[in-house]
Amino acid sequence: MTLHINYDHSCSNCKAQYIPYDEKVPCPNCNIVEEERFDFIPQAVVSMRFNKSRSGSYLPGAWWVGSLSDHILRLLFSLFDSYEERQDKELSINSFASKWLSEMNWGEQAYLEKHLLLIAEKVGEIIYQEGSA
Ligand SMILES: [Zn+2]
Repeated sequence: MTLHINYDHSCSNCKAQYIPYDEKVPCPNCNIVEEERFDFIPQAVVSMRFNKSRSGSYLPGAWWVGSLSDHILRLLFSLFDSYEERQDKELSINSFASKWLSEMNWGEQAYLEKHLLLIAEKVGEIIYQEGSA
């Protein structure tokens, strides 16, 4: 069993897919701030901790992507698994995420790289400050 987040959102202005996860998070493609908000970060942390406690890694054995949120979660799972296996233990999650995400091929969704980085920083703050990892 895995915990999915069934949430999709497209910008009302430019149609870019993103998650307005916090107050005043603008569309990462065109920068408008919409009214729509979705409390993604706490749910992402719950899903990640659930996987980690069950299988020892954030990425579960099987993960079906049914929404934009699931797609972003899939990237977060791999990112945080890679971070915890890093060679340089001094490296912060933010520095690691920045490099890791920059090495991905984003194609037409280049705006998602920065978006993912900001989400990863928020998730990292919770995962590593509360000491459950
Ligand atoms: Zn937009």
